[in-house]
Amino acid sequence: MNLKILNQVKELGLSHKNITYHVNTYNRFPVEFTKGKGAYLFDSDNNKYLDLLSGIAVTGFGHNKKELVEAAKNQVDKLWHVSNLFLSSPQEQLGKKLSEISKLDKVFFCNSGTEANEAAIKFARKWGNGRSTIIAAQGSFHGRTMGSLSASMQEKLWEGFQPLTPGFVSVPYNNTNAIKNKIDNTTVAILIEPIQGESGIIIPDENYLREVRNICNENNLLMIVDEIQTGIGRTGKHFAHQYANITPDIITVAKGIANGIPLGAVICSEKVNAAITPGSHGSTFGGNPIAVSVANKVLDLLTEDVLSQIIAQGNYIKQQLLKENLSGISDIRGKGLMIGIEFNKEIEVKDLALKLLQNKIIVGTAGNNVLRLLPPFIITNEEVDFFIETLKIVFD
Ligand code: PLP
Repeated sequence: MNLKILNQVKELGLSHKNITYHVNTYNRFPVEFTKGKGAYLFDSDNNKYLDLLSGIAVTGFGHNKKELVEAAKNQVDKLWHVSNLFLSSPQEQLGKKLSEISKLDKVFFCNSGTEANEAAIKFARKWGNGRSTIIAAQGSFHGRTMGSLSASMQEKLWEGFQPLTPGFVSVPYNNTNAIKNKIDNTTVAILIEPIQGESGIIIPDENYLREVRNICNENNLLMIVDEIQTGIGRTGKHFAHQYANITPDIITVAKGIANGIPLGAVICSEKVNAAITPGSHGSTFGGNPIAVSVANKVLDLLTEDVLSQIIAQGNYIKQQLLKENLSGISDIRGKGLMIGIEFNKEIEVKDLALKLLQNKIIVGTAGNNVLRLLPPFIITNEEVDFFIETLKIVFD
């Protein structure tokens, strides 16, 4: 933990346990959560916190959801690992569900978002048969391993890790002319987030994704949509790109797909699948039976009613925030339950998040001074009101 945060922690009177063994990859908050129920997490002293972050867009159905716990437990009792060299009915069931909601054909299972994007990059290059360049957008975040990191167009993420993997070029987000100008005879795919999450909930123009789809069609390129943060209901549709009425060639998902059990997936068209041969990619743990059984239940629970509820609750949060007209807020934006509240420079959003934590509310931060809300789908109006009342107090 860095000194600034440590001092803030002391000032705020939060208890701090020194973290000694973990590599210095996180500025961790000084709280340890030991159990969860619904929209709440409980710390080691049994204090109750309202969770508006959901493990960064993961636990959409909240913590300790009965049906999901049962799905995991049933599978643990039967079989918890089998090599991908053998058939798997839970994987087949999940593959069918994912292909139905995406209108695509085939699924590859892995363990995380970054792995899903690595696989998508490899699949695209294999399909390209010699063409290898992938166009990605400035401000994008696609993961931390070398391929997905090289596709993440934020220089600060690259510091100390050069040389990057070659074959990635960047264009400004939400600018289709820039894409057209970058295409050459080495280009194979365009990799895009439908909403940039890590960069601060950046929503492109309504026709952006449709135009990218057209550009891909006209130039025989694959359209890869990274739905790792936006997918599996988060924005009120199964996938955020569905707002644009398009079908990508490849979709990557992870985070919310198994409500917190590690699972990632690449969903692709038959034409992409046709380029892939046995042995060209794989994963020992990918599509683990426990994770896949939970994911099957997640997709069963994600009904049209739940999707409508996600939209309604997202609108409620935005409306109530707008009503308060809090000074210091420069923008409130989002789709479904993926919401960014952007603050003026005078307000340090990281301090705000820490003060909310002291008041037993968990939020995230992203991009340029943006408070990020990714609440569970089960969030109630009363819980939203509690958040807004607390935000007002913290402001004062
Ligand atoms: N892509 C997007 C859009 C993400 O938001 C993230 C994680 O925040 C990733 C990829 C990487 O996922 P993971 O952390 O599971 O590797």
